[in-house]
Amino acid sequence: MSKVEVKNIYMNYHTLAAETVALEDISFDVEAGEFVSIVGPSGCGKSTLLNIIAGLIKPSSGEIFIDGELQEGYSSKLGYMFQRDQLFEWLTVWNNVCLGLKIKRMLNEEAKVKIEGLLKNYNLWEFKDHYPRQLSGGMRQRVALIRTLALNPEVLILDEPFSALDYQTRLNVSDEIFHIIKREGKTAIMVTHDISEAVSMSSKIVVLSKRPAVIKKIVNVDFECDNLTPLKCREHSKFRIYFNDIWKEMDYNEEE
Ligand code: ADP
Ligand code: MG
Repeated sequence: MSKVEVKNIYMNYHTLAAETVALEDISFDVEAGEFVSIVGPSGCGKSTLLNIIAGLIKPSSGEIFIDGELQEGYSSKLGYMFQRDQLFEWLTVWNNVCLGLKIKRMLNEEAKVKIEGLLKNYNLWEFKDHYPRQLSGGMRQRVALIRTLALNPEVLILDEPFSALDYQTRLNVSDEIFHIIKREGKTAIMVTHDISEAVSMSSKIVVLSKRPAVIKKIVNVDFECDNLTPLKCREHSKFRIYFNDIWKEMDYNEEE
């Protein structure tokens, strides 16, 4: 059984002015422990698809199954990490990371020990009393990820998590975030418009067309080397082949 099954998802947005068809018949599976990326041109419907998977919006038709169960509404098995890190500037790192559990009244001693462990493992413990503005962009993303991990989700949902970072930082931070997700044994579904990022991090890439988004191709990525980090993947001879294969499918300029 797959961890997440996306089945025949359609989405139309109705506004007073118009009807927008965002998604057409989207289906794919995500296995436990897998890192799946969804790529597609800007505005094609990627965030819409993630919000549907996360149970935040209801599709016009189609279903999402998690561990074989039909998902209705938000599941605590999922953890969402947004495009901007959405840290609260007036709270310290520690209070930001604990916030979700506090709201759920689940911030007990055991949870505090777990959070302390996460902050120590990922080099943030000495910054626990700092405020977000005192941190680098990469550190902020790590704090945001740990805040999501504190709720112990099984599946992480990431919407363009590195897009606010400059290029060099993005390379390093994507490497770190990948490492944390793998080490914590999580399944991940990430949206990005950056093909290189998708190829370097994922085992499977779902390529969407321009809006209305249909699946153009599902690419399985395998560098046939164990423990290859995203940074190392970028140097592998097969990297270009995957990149070009996906680039060709995206047809940024072609009118259809
Ligand atoms: P992406 O994340 O790929 O950039 P989105 O999923 O955000 O794309 O948006 C896909 C399309 O749906 C866009 O044309 C956008 O304008 C439209 N859209 C998104 N959210 C809404 C909404 N709440 N109401 C109406 N249209 C929307
Ligand atoms: Mg988006």
